[in-house]
Order: sequence, then structure tokens, then C-alpha cells
Amino acid sequence: MSYGSENFDPAPNLGAPASQPQRIRQLPLEVITKIAAGEVIERPASVVKELLENSVDAGATRIDVEIEQGGAELIRVVDDGCGIPPEDLPLAFASHATSKLVDADDLFRVGSYGFRGEALASIGGVAQVTLRSRLDPGRIGAEVFCDGGKLSEVRPWNGAPGTCIEVRRLFFNTPVRRKFLRATGTEAGHIAEQVTRLALARPTLTLKLTHNGRLVYEVPSSAGLRDRLRLFFGSEVEDRLMPVEAAQGPVRLSGFIADPACDAGNARLQYLFVNGRWIRDRALSHALQEAYRGLVMVGRHPVAFVFLELPPDQVDVNVHPTKSEVRFRDGHAVYHLVLASLREKLRSSDLVARLQVRPIGSFPNAVPLLQPSSTQPDPWARDFFAPRPALTQPSLANGGTGSEATTERQETPVTERTVPPEGPANLKAIQLYDAYLVVETPEGMLVIDQHALHERIIYEHWKERIGNGTMEIQRLLVPEPVDLPAEQAATALDNKALLERLGLGIEDFGGGTVLVTSYPAMFRNGAPADILRTAVEYLVGNDRPPGPEQLLEKLLALMACKAAIKAGDHLGPEEIAALIAQRGLADHTHHCPHGRPTALLFSRQELDRQFKRT
Ligand code: ADP
Ligand code: MG
Repeated sequence: MSYGSENFDPAPNLGAPASQPQRIRQLPLEVITKIAAGEVIERPASVVKELLENSVDAGATRIDVEIEQGGAELIRVVDDGCGIPPEDLPLAFASHATSKLVDADDLFRVGSYGFRGEALASIGGVAQVTLRSRLDPGRIGAEVFCDGGKLSEVRPWNGAPGTCIEVRRLFFNTPVRRKFLRATGTEAGHIAEQVTRLALARPTLTLKLTHNGRLVYEVPSSAGLRDRLRLFFGSEVEDRLMPVEAAQGPVRLSGFIADPACDAGNARLQYLFVNGRWIRDRALSHALQEAYRGLVMVGRHPVAFVFLELPPDQVDVNVHPTKSEVRFRDGHAVYHLVLASLREKLRSSDLVARLQVRPIGSFPNAVPLLQPSSTQPDPWARDFFAPRPALTQPSLANGGTGSEATTERQETPVTERTVPPEGPANLKAIQLYDAYLVVETPEGMLVIDQHALHERIIYEHWKERIGNGTMEIQRLLVPEPVDLPAEQAATALDNKALLERLGLGIEDFGGGTVLVTSYPAMFRNGAPADILRTAVEYLVGNDRPPGPEQLLEKLLALMACKAAIKAGDHLGPEEIAALIAQRGLADHTHHCPHGRPTALLFSRQELDRQFKRT
């Protein structure tokens, strides 16, 4: 090992103020390398990104990526590119050594992915790397080994033309960084995401990814962009895509956007590429979200794959260490092009019909409740509507503050008495706007938000069942395969135990497919895939998820929201009665799981007073 005990790891307390003036010292080269590596190489996926880009820059038409243990043990990338001359092999590991840039002006016409000459130096500094390369069959190849920055002799090598690079034991000499690696599945998911991005950016490239000997992706060169979208994101997404194409001055936009009904809980299904580079861009994400404004619900994110092409001098790619952000010369024009062309596409598409394709009935629990009363004569008998074994008084002790608290205090006696003793007949209640229930109670007029209340009831009921271990689980005789983006599949599997507590049993099927083996019986007519997707979207949207209990609560709330009747659902008299009856039975029904109130009371006295009757 090269640096023995001088392992450099920035400890959290390094910056502690010194009582004495400290001397300024030039840092040793190996420390500089490790600091630089920290900028470029954050995790195994960063290594994969850099290696893939090098292969493409070398003109490769096929790239094989093999990883072990989420890339922490091994990352091997083999390409059929132009190769590296034997005498240049050691230089490949030198800092600021590149074959892609000659002078500073080149920076403004970068056509390659790489140009900084830093990646291999960084990777070589924090791993054990073997680089093998051969120019063509007529010439002998060579290999060199770089152990945490220390180079071996160059030796002859006789493999196939192209380059093979093996990165073993990433961060072996920076233990703190190594410790920060996440679960294998998570790291593998990030790697799969890098492969996905490149496969979309370069739709003629043949790509293969294997993890621990299992095939994750195999993308043939014959698979076009649309085939690739289907492969990576499943037919549910691909079926809903429509092509977009537009140009404005020197800027060209192309790609696919999904109809608004195909939305997601986070923005990860928004891919943006500029000149074949995947990038993140706040302004353009905003343009995208704006284009869908009014078409997707607040908090939901449209799905889109947008490719921009501009002359290289119109975009600066040298603004970010990993080149995942760019600066446009005319950012306004690009913003406007994205917004206007997407908006126009959405406007001209027959979205109304499509929006109805996803019926409310696809939310499992809502189905029977929404059927006409004749086919569902007894909503009281529904599972989650069934009275609970031990009927507890509604607890209003720890309510909110201010006006909400007042509302709660006022309605305390109401909650207990609105349970209709003999069912619907006694109840004076109507539904307004298919969203609110207005109920006469001895204390006053109660206005209930039907969705918020139902959501709360399901949530409470479910939570109690989980708490006392009486949650019914529906096992699937034939497990249902669900195709997820690899990153999401990995996250799902990492959280297998947690999902199981929710009654959601899953197994790895490989290749981004997860088998659902069981689901909570509460989702009786359930679409297990829907339940899984909801859970995973939330998990993926959180880089550092909270503790398991919090997560469980959040997932419960999300799923309850999905299962509950919606604003806009028309309810029959029995359904109204059942909902109101349940209000008296469940704890905490005064607020929905998101914290919004479920009901407001206009007290009898207040009504009388306002109308000057008293
Ligand atoms: P950059 O890509 O910015 O030039 P890197 O550190 O990633 O810097 O790579 C250094 C050099 O090594 C490249 O400029 C290129 O000449 C060579 N190289 C790296 N990977 C490959 C490869 N797969 N095929 C051919 N040449 C490569
Ligand atoms: Mg590079």
C-alpha cells in the first residue's frame, strides 16, 4: 500500500479553530489527489460514469460493464474503442493528462465527454486499478496497475483490441469514504442509472450490465430510443409517450414526453440531455413543470425525456466537476423553447380522453365504494369500514393550535354523537360538489372533506392493524412481476424488510423486475404493482430516509391517500352514512394524515348569532 498509516480522510473536526497561528503548508501530492478524487468520485456509480464516457470518447460501439457488490469490490468496463498506445498507459493516470484537449480554446468547442484529464488519476488514487489496452490486432497491447496512486511497470498484454479497465476495492485507502457507501443494492441502482443515461444519450451503443454475475441490462445497438425507454421504464411509461420535436435558432429539441396522467411522485423520470450529455438544470426542470402546469396535480411530476442539441460554443460544459451541469449562453431562449414546445404539444394532444384512461377504479379500495349502491348494498360490511373491536373515544387531547384547535374543541361532542344509531335513515347529510359532506348535528352544521376523512379512517385502521399484528395479508399464488427502473428496484429490495411490515412482500427477479408475493388485504381489489410503485417512489425520492417508524407512517399515509375516495367521487346515501359513522369510530379523524382538517363545524349558536336570531 502506498501511503501506509498516513491515510488521509477529512475528519469532521478538522476545521476546529486553532488557538495558535498555524503554518501554511503545501499539501503532499497524494492528499491533493484524494481531495480532487472527492470531487469527481463520490461513489461507485461515479467511477462507472467516467469509465463509460472514456469508452464512448474512444469511439466504442459496445461496452460491457461488470460489477460486484454494488461496484465496491469490482467495476470492470470493457470496450472495443480505439485503445491507448502502450507508452501512454502511465500518462492516463496522471493528473490533468488528456488526449482530448490541446489548448484553452478547445474548452469552448468540446465534443467529447472528457476533457479534464482527471478521472483516471482520481480513480487510481482511491482504488486498485488495472488498465489494459490494445490498439489493433497488428500491435501488441499493454497493461499497467495503479495501486492507490502507485504505478507498476508497463507489461505486454494480448487481449482483444480496445480497453479493459478493472477498478477493485474502491476507497480502500480512504476508510471513511468507504464506510459511507450505501447498501449494495442502492449502489448498484446508481450504477444502473448511469448505464441508463448513457444508453439513452447514445441510442446506437450496445451496452451490457451485470451485477454479481447476473444480467441487469442488455441493450443491443438495434434497440432505438423508444425501445430503450420501454426497456428501462416499462411499457406503462412507454405506452404513454408522445414524440416532441422543435427548433429555435441554433437550438434543436427532440424526445418524448408522457401524457399528464402518467405522472410520478418525484422528478426522477425527467431526463434532460444536452449535446448527448445527461444534465441537471433547475431552470429547464422548471420549464418542464411549467409546461404541465394545471395538467398534473401539485406535488406530482410529469415524465419526460428531452434532448437538446446546440452548437458547442453555445453551451459551457466546464462548470461542474462531474460535468452534470452546464451553462447556456442564452438560457432564456432554451427555457422558452422547452416551455413553448412542450406546452404546444400538450395543448394539441387529445388529453381529455387520455386523462380518463386512468380511472379512479385503478385505486384499489375506491372501486367497490364507488359502484352504485345496488351492486354494493352494504358498505358497512366493507373490511375497513367494519367497526373496530374496542371502540375508543375520539382523542382530541393533542390537537393543533390557533383556529384549528378551536374547531376541534367545538366539535368534541359532535364527533361522538354523529354516529347514526340506526344507519342512514336518521342521518341528515348531503354531498356537495362531490367533495364535501354537509351533516346536521345537534351542535351545528358539520362540513366534512370526504377524501381527507376517508384517508384518515383508512390510515388509522391500518396503523392499528400493523400495531397489533392483525393486519391481513393477501398472498399471491402467482407472484406479480413489476418492472421498475433499476434504481427503484434496488431501493425496493433494500427496503424489503420495511415493506414486509406493510404487508408488501417482494422478491428480486433480476433485471429491474421485482416480484410482488403479497400485499395488504385492505387493498382488496388491489393492484399490487400500484401499491409497490407508490411505496418505491417515496423511498427513491428520499436520499436519506428517516427512521423506519417515520417511513412506515409516511408510506401508510401515501397509500391511504391512494386508497381513499377522492374529491369528485359521487357517493350514494349508504356510502355517506358509512363514512360519517366511521368518523365516530376512528381516532384522530379530525385531521387527515397530511395534517389538513377533515371537518369544520359551524355551530348552531354561531349560525343563529350570525343571522341575528339571538
Ligand atoms: P479525460 O477523459 O478527461 O481525458 P481521463 O482521466 O478520463 O481524462 O482519461 C485520461 C486519458 O486516458 C484520456 O484522455 C484518454 O486518452 C485515455 N483513455 C481513458 N480511457 C480510455 C479508453 N477506454 N479508451 C481509450 N483511451 C482511454
Ligand atoms: Mg474521462
